[in-house]
Amino acid sequence: MRIKMVAGNWKMNKNLQEGIALATELKEALQQNAPKCAVVIGTPFIHLASVAQIIKDSPIRLAAENCADKVSGAYTGEVSAEMVRSTGAEYCILGHSERRAYYHEDYDILKEKVLLALQNGLKPIFCIGEVKEEREAGKQNEVVRAQLEGSVFNLNAEEWKNITLAYEPVWAIGTGLTATPAQAQEMHAYIRSLIAEKYGKQAAEDTTILYGGSCNAKNAAELFANPDVDGGLIGGASLKAPDFCTIIAAR
Ligand code: PEP
Repeated sequence: MRIKMVAGNWKMNKNLQEGIALATELKEALQQNAPKCAVVIGTPFIHLASVAQIIKDSPIRLAAENCADKVSGAYTGEVSAEMVRSTGAEYCILGHSERRAYYHEDYDILKEKVLLALQNGLKPIFCIGEVKEEREAGKQNEVVRAQLEGSVFNLNAEEWKNITLAYEPVWAIGTGLTATPAQAQEMHAYIRSLIAEKYGKQAAEDTTILYGGSCNAKNAAELFANPDVDGGLIGGASLKAPDFCTIIAAR
């Protein structure tokens, strides 16, 4: 049985004190209403060690939003997968469209990051999705297939078990435009069919595929009602504990 999950992506928001306050508020809220799905929060690097302490006796799991494509050494400003893991983080968001677009992370860089994350005991939450022009040209399936083939379909079956996917149509991220439940289901089913081709039917059934892109407290339930949508990767709405809790309760 695959894991149902709601994961937050704080992006470059919240200073350390604000991040600690948000994690504390979320932990307290989930003590009142125990989640029925896995809950992950993705925070900036500098928050990880502090937030790990706050959530240690809670159901919340921790993710970094990135890691380096190098093991260690003279890479000023970078943070390695090993360093991330040493904070207590268990997951690492990789391949986010903002990293692809603004920091030029291509298939090969992402392939390295995924391997390093796995080698260091981190579970990648690997993001894929097409931009608006690609959707308008009907190319979304080929884009998503290329992203998977370029960066994660090199993994062996054992490694694959640690992968969570997030389908995030770029045109829906932070724009208020959400994929319709039917569009999300169609793409998630397609992605699952690609996994089945590559790793077999059981692996496809067991892979968690999240939807991301303007998912919020109002629309989460209808998105999550789809059989192939296993939960959400939530940006903006993960920055307010009550909204994030409503989304968790919808899963
Ligand atoms: C994201 O950045 O992963 C995301 C889904 O953002 P938002 O929910 O704000 O669209």
